[in-house]
Amino acid sequence: MSFRDLSLSPAVLAALPSQYHAPTPIQQQAIPAMLRGQDVLALAQTGSGKTLAFGLGLLQQLALSSEDAISLAKLTAVVIVPTRELAAQINDVLAPLSKALNIAQAMVCGGIGLNEQVAMLEQAPPRLLIATPGRLLDLITQRLISVNQVKHLVLDEADRLLEMGFWPDLQRIVQAMPAQQQRLLFSATLAGELAEKVSLLMPNAQRIEV
Ligand code: AMP
Repeated sequence: MSFRDLSLSPAVLAALPSQYHAPTPIQQQAIPAMLRGQDVLALAQTGSGKTLAFGLGLLQQLALSSEDAISLAKLTAVVIVPTRELAAQINDVLAPLSKALNIAQAMVCGGIGLNEQVAMLEQAPPRLLIATPGRLLDLITQRLISVNQVKHLVLDEADRLLEMGFWPDLQRIVQAMPAQQQRLLFSATLAGELAEKVSLLMPNAQRIEV
């Protein structure tokens, strides 16, 4: 199987760095489901290629909506992760692709000055945001960022988000977003409490295990 078999657009295929020769199993399954507009629940470990799985699915959908000039200025996709390190890692993997596709991308997380991040958001309003939950909720409650047009939400390492006590923050973030949005959740495990929360958040998600 090649990336060409995944219904990705010529622009996205051209933006894909040449180091990626063939899609990994999670990419083979998650990308077509995302492009059909489905919610996706993926049980996948770090190292499976999950970043590029949700990254390509998001960027393709953002690239398509770029044809509509009004949507260019709106925050449309948010990826939430438990740690600053993970946010930085995802930001680095997706930045060259976003740049090639002319999609404004930014990262917000705790541990970096709030004012500095607010200035950055004002200067270059992102369409794709990678965030940790606490800082994102701060920005939302202080009305420094608006999430009411977010059409795609990714929760990465959801098991760690729950373990680290972020679920109440996440619920408030989700409540500030449109009820009608595509949701994707990636987790290494899906134990009791997480399974319950996931079934409420995305009852009709397509489940993928790799
Ligand atoms: P992740 O699971 O997203 O943390 O990715 C793990 C590693 O796999 C990263 O170093 C990626 O650069 C690499 N990777 C992701 N997708 C592919 C692919 N299709 N072909 C080769 N390497 C990949």
